[in-house]
Amino acid sequence: MGESAVENCPFCGIVSGNVSSQQVYADDHVLAFRDRNPQAPVHVLVIPRAHVGGINDPRAEDGEVLVALIHAANEIARREGIAESGYRLVWNVGPHAGQSVFHLHLHVLGGRLLGWPPG
Ligand code: 5GP
Ligand code: ZN
Repeated sequence: MGESAVENCPFCGIVSGNVSSQQVYADDHVLAFRDRNPQAPVHVLVIPRAHVGGINDPRAEDGEVLVALIHAANEIARREGIAESGYRLVWNVGPHAGQSVFHLHLHVLGGRLLGWPPG
């Protein structure tokens, strides 16, 4: 485990390689992999390598990490062929948004028409 890894955090497990995932992108700050329960033809999660609880965690407001997450999401959209058709970037926060994993992750969703308002 890296020095920031949190025990029993599934996404720290993915960063350390203890939990397998279908990785689609990696750089110095972030990793991205396919969601195991996809809600759209393209559904990728982009996470910081370092553990951060969610977008409401003060550590998430580090400009370098935020820029890396957004850069990765846009690059993934290009690689997945949805840059032109469009995509949605989602941060779920807390119970009403259905947040279930407390390691910051940015959802990249696309490949179909996405309804608005979201469910
Ligand atoms: P949240 O609702 O917290 O924003 O989303 C968590 C997402 O992580 C869910 O869409 C869920 O399917 C996905 N997920 C949870 N555990 C794993 C895992 O171990 N591997 C992968 N690939 N996705 C996971
Ligand atoms: Zn973690």
